[in-house]
Amino acid sequence: MSPSAPLASWSTLEAVRTDALGCTRCPLAETRTQVVFGVGDPNAMLMFVGEGPGQNEDEQGIPFVGRAGGLLTKLIEGIGLTRDGVYIANVVKCRPPGNRDPLPAEIESCSPYLQAQLGFVAPRVVMTLGNFATKLLLDTKVGITKLRGQEFPFGDAVLVPTLHPAAVLRGGGVALAQTRADFVVAKRVLGRGGAGA
Ligand code: URA
Repeated sequence: MSPSAPLASWSTLEAVRTDALGCTRCPLAETRTQVVFGVGDPNAMLMFVGEGPGQNEDEQGIPFVGRAGGLLTKLIEGIGLTRDGVYIANVVKCRPPGNRDPLPAEIESCSPYLQAQLGFVAPRVVMTLGNFATKLLLDTKVGITKLRGQEFPFGDAVLVPTLHPAAVLRGGGVALAQTRADFVVAKRVLGRGGAGA
């Protein structure tokens, strides 16, 4: 995904949200309970991009509120930030039935919303959580285990891929240690400041 693509016709993040909440661009609209647009500080320096809502998120309309969300919150707090101080979004805004992987057509239909979120929030650091977000934003087929913890230029931002929190919950101590280290990379980039971070 290009970090500098045009922002369709939206003039504010709120306008993007309003459109997304009524979205029928793909069949996920038929099975969702709620659109899970994104939460957090619209001027955040750090933005997270996950995969897509699960059951809890679909019910509450808020990303990362289940067990994986609890871990994400702890990881954010572990680098001295708060959930309210960052911005959290997903590749797809509606829950794929049964938590299956999002389909390429669903990802493509939803990508203008993510593109616009990235453009309006304009974070200094983007952390992609897992394969789907990393492959989409870096336009790569390389897997997350090879890419995690590295810094990639992403427009005016720096992109740092890390493991998906759900995978960390499954992966145990090593995965958790790797992910903590990736968050420290992001914190270091934030600390450098300046354009291009
Ligand atoms: N997993 C995700 O990728 N996103 C969420 O919002 C919740 C779980």
